[in-house]
Amino acid sequence: MAEEKKKKAYKFNFILDATKCMACAACELECKFGGIYIDDNVNYAINLDNCTRCGKCFRACPAGAISKVNIAA
Ligand code: SF4
Ligand code: SF4
Repeated sequence: MAEEKKKKAYKFNFILDATKCMACAACELECKFGGIYIDDNVNYAINLDNCTRCGKCFRACPAGAISKVNIAA
């Protein structure tokens, strides 16, 4: 039986609203997992593949640009 690569199932995601972001880099400095990157449009963004949902960026953001969203079951 082929073993499937299992991904940790999270119950929520963190999302970053680029329209609220003021590019202070606080989230990037807090994230120890490579979850924060700068996308093609030169906005801060979250790579959910690296994100461990630790919440540090969420707590560090002074602009309220990062929010926690539950994943519908
Ligand atoms: S929740 Fe934690 S791991 Fe995910 S992007 Fe924010 S700081 Fe990085
Ligand atoms: S901490 Fe908030 S305002 Fe600062 S770069 Fe990250 S998302 Fe943007």
